[in-house]
Amino acid sequence: MDAEWQAALPRLRDAIGERNFSVWIEPIRCVRETRGLRLEVPNRFYQEWVTRNYLQSICDALGPPESAPEVRIVVTEPAEETPSPTPGTTVKPVKRESTAASLRKRTLQVGRLVPHYVFDNFVVGPSNQVASQAACQVVETLGKRLNPLFLWGGVGLGKTHLVNAIGHSVLHGERRGRVGCLSAEAFMNLLIGALRQDQMNAFRDRFRELDVLILDDVQFLAGKERTQEEFFHTFEALYTAGRQIVLTSDKPPHAINELEHRLRSRFEGGMIADVRPPTFEMRVEIACRKAQLNGTPISHEIASAIARCCGPSVRELEGALTRVLAIRSLEKRDLTDVSVERILSGAVPARKLVSVESVIECVAAHYGLRAEDLRSHRRARALSQARQIAMFLCRLVAHASLASIAEQFGGRDHTSVLYSVRVVEERKRKDVSLQRTLDELLSLLDAPPVH
Ligand code: ADP
Ligand code: MG
Repeated sequence: MDAEWQAALPRLRDAIGERNFSVWIEPIRCVRETRGLRLEVPNRFYQEWVTRNYLQSICDALGPPESAPEVRIVVTEPAEETPSPTPGTTVKPVKRESTAASLRKRTLQVGRLVPHYVFDNFVVGPSNQVASQAACQVVETLGKRLNPLFLWGGVGLGKTHLVNAIGHSVLHGERRGRVGCLSAEAFMNLLIGALRQDQMNAFRDRFRELDVLILDDVQFLAGKERTQEEFFHTFEALYTAGRQIVLTSDKPPHAINELEHRLRSRFEGGMIADVRPPTFEMRVEIACRKAQLNGTPISHEIASAIARCCGPSVRELEGALTRVLAIRSLEKRDLTDVSVERILSGAVPARKLVSVESVIECVAAHYGLRAEDLRSHRRARALSQARQIAMFLCRLVAHASLASIAEQFGGRDHTSVLYSVRVVEERKRKDVSLQRTLDELLSLLDAPPVH
């Protein structure tokens, strides 16, 4: 080990405490380079964490700025989430201002935001007025008033959209803050990963430094005792530190079965707002806005015809819109309200419209990923699962051959498609939430449910 680094370690331990030292500093490998020290860390998250929290202390422990070596924190293995190796973070100890700036940097820390789920794209009306006003207030008052904010309502009514809008506003608006936005299922998966790798301290720290934690679909926690316990502690830590918590669910807190009493009472302790099915006028407006956003505007008349033909779910409305737009572009003709009704009443078969392309787009959008992510060869867990589901659906509704699916997923081998189809088939037999996801995706693709 480099002598200078070795000499700095006891000072560093004193400065940041035993626990932080053993979690974050001890595992670092230090290599002497011509210009200074290269500190090797295992992944990007680790790199950001150490840079943000300990780089200054590391520099201080190495001695006065004039004589201390330059320090680079470098990821040794490519991070799962990043396709290319992450460049090192170079900071010369004398550059105190740039270090301070990086300490203040506020970003999305956990999870992912769907890019177009912003307030500007959200249609407000009688069915969601309270919920959307509450969401706006949360951005203004972060942690001070409506805490937690608990939004509940049926599938496809805009809960995920609204809470993502909160995330975007906090990240990019005036009140910038550190945001985490993920589903309860993703929270559980991260927890399992942390437990397996014995990294619970890192897991906890990662959540506890957030200014806003958005947990989507908390009904998923029902019956998952270990996840509930951990989430309870995360909740308490954030809440007592005055941080904002935002939750969504398909039912109100009292109706979530197998939820620990203490969590239920926390959920009920803030602002609860329901999101109801949109009115006809709202659905017309939503169809118009979605088409506009898609770069394929439609008239009020066509939007009204679409809104008349579908049920209350906005997802269903989107599915209908996609179908109408696809037929318009395939048949290259202008539509009338009568032809829209014909299309949506099933007179025009949906099947011919479902392409591998649209399955990929649909699954990517559902998981908040990009279509390229699914076509890529990256293996992050969330990505692999979404990819497997997309392949399964391609086989089911696009009726494409294994080889052509493999080709469209970045030129893979067809056996990997076969494997994915089998995995999903196997999983869906036991996993009710996967069945629900598949049905939702199928309804977006306008195909009948599978069981
Ligand atoms: P939920 O989380 O309640 O199941 P989502 O937020 O995923 O529903 O919404 C489903 C789709 O409907 C999304 O594409 C979303 O953009 C759209 N949507 C729902 N409500 C609205 C609304 N009021 N304005 C615009 N889009 C909406
Ligand atoms: Mg949702």
